[in-house]
Amino acid sequence: ALTIGIVGLPNVGKSTLFNALTKNQVLAANYPFATIEPNVGVVNLPDPRLETLAGIFGSERILPAAVSFVDIAGIVRGASEGEGLGNKFLANIREADAIAQVVRGFEDSDVVHVEGAVDPKADMETINTELILADLETLERAIPRFEKEIKGKKLDPSVLEAAKAALDVLQRGTPLSAASVDLAPVKELGLLTAKPFIYVFNVDESVLTDEAKKAELAALVAPAEAVFLDAKIESELIDLDPADAAELLASTGQEESGLDQLARIGFDTLGLQTYLTAGPKESRAWTIHKGDKAPQAAGVIHTDFERGFIKAEVISFADLVETGSVAEARAKGKARMEGKDYVMQDGDVVEFRFNV
Ligand code: GDP
Repeated sequence: ALTIGIVGLPNVGKSTLFNALTKNQVLAANYPFATIEPNVGVVNLPDPRLETLAGIFGSERILPAAVSFVDIAGIVRGASEGEGLGNKFLANIREADAIAQVVRGFEDSDVVHVEGAVDPKADMETINTELILADLETLERAIPRFEKEIKGKKLDPSVLEAAKAALDVLQRGTPLSAASVDLAPVKELGLLTAKPFIYVFNVDESVLTDEAKKAELAALVAPAEAVFLDAKIESELIDLDPADAAELLASTGQEESGLDQLARIGFDTLGLQTYLTAGPKESRAWTIHKGDKAPQAAGVIHTDFERGFIKAEVISFADLVETGSVAEARAKGKARMEGKDYVMQDGDVVEFRFNV
């Protein structure tokens, strides 16, 4: 599954947020991957379309898409130094598809700030510097190995070229995501600053409705996305039933919980979208990459669907709602038969035809 790794300084609220994420997993008990390790939390991607579909098809249950998060230890200044210590710290997120950096924005004299004062900009610089140093270390270890392997004709020279280009970028203090270097040849190194980033500002409740303050913080990280939440409120929300949770959210001036926001923005940052299937048993969202074609989308349900793909009957969600049923959509010519080159669109309601 696609995962987002969580990083941040100590005492910024990572554990508080992560506890909310893992408790959320109870709600996701329907999922095949609900039996995952304790350091993984799952957030459902909120999708009101599924309720509508369940209404049309009389579905017994709803299965939204989900994004998973992996927890990692906090990074302190100097984490990347010393005999591979930093690398050990960061090993968990090397495999992550994106990184969410939790940044402390809340004031609380009872919670010690490791750097002495609440300063989001300085904190992000500390973390980003450590990630750059960790990548430098990874490359400095890899380059001699690559050189040897190329001499022995066991590696394509393009790998070394990409590694050297990346090293050059990092030595200038620039994260890899900000440079136009082709990193595909060194993908297996899991370079951290090459991953998409999301910033999660853990702020006081008062900041949640302070648009000026939020805009100021968001500007510090643009073009990366910023999510604003209060980790303490998130951990309370997760214990409430939906009606009480909605009331608490409204009282803090939010339309959507921070975890929901995080799922939505995380999904987008990972370049994902969903298509939908519906029937009397379930209405379900399936996760695919933007740009995936119909057979790949079918493969998410079952590899046999991809192998034996014949065609897909596709109705857009809007057309299905307008016509009210599959039969009516067909009668009005709104059900399209699409072949193997069809590029899936977000919210397509699909039925696959395949050979077994
Ligand atoms: P971590 O070290 O990043 O995992 O941080 P924790 O989640 O353990 O939080 C450190 C301390 O800050 C704990 O005492 C939390 O209760 C507190 N804390 C976390 N989030 C918030 C918040 O949004 N507001 C306030 N006031 N305290 C928080």
